[in-house]
Amino acid sequence: AKGQDHQQYAFFNTYLSNKVQRKHELELLLKKADYHQEFELYYQPQFSIPQGELIGIEALLRWKSKEKGMISPGEFIPIAEEIGSIVKIGEWVMEKAIAQIAEWNKQYDLNLKMGINISPRQLNSLNFMHMFDSFIQAYDIKPEWLDIEITENSAMNNESTMEEMFTALANRGASISIDDFGTGYSSLSYIKRFDVNRLKIAKPLIDNISSNHSDRQIVKAIVMLAKAMAIKTIAEGVEYQDQLDQLINLGCDEVQGFFYSRPLPAKELEKIYLSVNEA
Ligand code: C2E
Ligand code: CA
Ligand code: CA
Repeated sequence: AKGQDHQQYAFFNTYLSNKVQRKHELELLLKKADYHQEFELYYQPQFSIPQGELIGIEALLRWKSKEKGMISPGEFIPIAEEIGSIVKIGEWVMEKAIAQIAEWNKQYDLNLKMGINISPRQLNSLNFMHMFDSFIQAYDIKPEWLDIEITENSAMNNESTMEEMFTALANRGASISIDDFGTGYSSLSYIKRFDVNRLKIAKPLIDNISSNHSDRQIVKAIVMLAKAMAIKTIAEGVEYQDQLDQLINLGCDEVQGFFYSRPLPAKELEKIYLSVNEA
């Protein structure tokens, strides 16, 4: 047993040091990354239910590192948050997403909302609203075309700053969605304190909505609560018809997920969902 313990310990050690080393490498690469060369936004459409009308698009960041290839945001965003690069990255994302929705809504005469993911850390940076305003001006868009997606998490501890930012965004007419609602740090007090427009019901709750009674009851309660407060609900990670059926049944407003579409490069989303509207 002793030998085995030792082996397991050695294995665990290698595993840890590989992880630490990878993280260290990504930190260095992130710091010197050329965003224009290595970053790209993918876009995932959002639909109303039961109508199935395209109502919005979420921008999702992709990093094609010259050295390491494709790295998922689930891996590099937390690192970027930790080392502070998220503020600059977020600026790049915001400009790119705003430029894109300006182009699409004008070219196709639409009023789609562009969902932009924002880390709480970005909101806390003093420059945020200034940047927001200057992009809106530069690309001449309606703030109503933007939906700011914020994940409830521990970084949301500076509540007075958060409240100011939410109010500033709402005053301009942008909408605010709470991402991953119903998991993790999820706290009902946010929807009471802040002027929130939409709850994004987290994928783990949607996964088993057909087979798991409690998950279905939780989603039902979220939808009812939101309705009572005049807040919209969108389900994320919808992959199957039976999930969609359940959500329609519960009165959820909107859906997003692989059932309709994966996140797509701009050209593909445009070809499939926008150019068809042109007579
Ligand atoms: P998120 O905001 O919750 O985004 C949804 C994630 O679920 C995306 O992963 C999307 O590709 C994936 N997804 C959508 N529909 C389905 C489905 O039906 N099935 C499955 N299995 N997955 C689905 P992605 O693109 O890897 O992004 C992961 C996370 O990284 C995002 O989670 C978000 O928290 C963060 N992120 C992505 N882009 C940005 C960004 O520009 N800024 C910030 N701050 N965070 C970002
Ligand atoms: Ca999101
Ligand atoms: Ca989410």
